[in-house]
Amino acid sequence: DQETQTEAVRTAVEAIADRLADEKDHLTDLDSAIGDADHGANMDRGFRTALERVEETDGDPADLVKAAGVALVSEVGGASGPLYGGSLMKASQELEDGITADTTVAFAERYLETVEERGKASVGDKTMVDALTPAVHTYRKSIEVDDREPIDALGKAVDAARRGVEFTTPIRAKKGRASYLGWRSVGHQDPGATSTLYLLEELLDVATE
Ligand code: ADP
Ligand code: MG
Ligand code: MG
Repeated sequence: DQETQTEAVRTAVEAIADRLADEKDHLTDLDSAIGDADHGANMDRGFRTALERVEETDGDPADLVKAAGVALVSEVGGASGPLYGGSLMKASQELEDGITADTTVAFAERYLETVEERGKASVGDKTMVDALTPAVHTYRKSIEVDDREPIDALGKAVDAARRGVEFTTPIRAKKGRASYLGWRSVGHQDPGATSTLYLLEELLDVATE
C-alpha cells in the first residue's frame, strides 16, 4: 500500500545518504583530479538534507521524491545539484500513481531525459549521462522486452551503470568542469557517473531487502 511505498522511499534515501557519506572522500578525490574537489561534499550535504526533508514530509512516494529533489537543488550549487535535484523533481511526477514496474520505467526515462535536457550532455561526454543512459535503457528493456521482475531489471541496470562508469575513464571530457582540461581529463573516472552508480547500487540493495 501507499504507506509501505512511502516508507520504502525514506529507507532508500537513508541508504543513499549513508553511502554517500561513506564515499565522500573517494568522490572528492575523483573530483580533485578533473574538477574542483567538491563532489563528495556536495553529494554528502545534499543527500543529508534530502533525508531530513523526506523524514519530515508526509505524503505519497511522489511527494517524497520531489521533496528530496527540492532539497538537492537548494542545498547543492554547481553542476550536480540542479542535475540531480531538478531531474528528481521532474521525474517524481511519474510516481503519482505509486511505484510499479511501469511507473519506475517512466520515472527512470524522465529522469534521464531531464538530465540530458538540462546538461546538454550525451553519451561519451564523460558525465553522469554515461552511467545513467545504459542503466535506464537496460532497465526498460529488461522489463518490457525480457519480461523480468523489476528487481532483476534493476540488477541488470546496475551492471550496465558500472560498465558506463568504467567507460568514462579512457575518454576525454566534453561537458562540465572536466572539459576545461581537454586531453588531460583522459585516464580519470568521472565523479558524477560514480555517484550515480552508488545511488543505483543502494536502490538495488534496498529493493533486495
Ligand atoms: P561542479 O562541477 O559544478 O563542481 P560537482 O563536482 O558536484 O559540480 O559535479 C560534477 C559532475 O557533474 C561531473 O563529474 C559530471 O558527471 C556532472 N556534470 C557536469 N556537467 C554536466 C553536464 N553538462 N551534463 C551532465 N552531467 C554533468
Ligand atoms: Mg566539483
Ligand atoms: Mg563545484
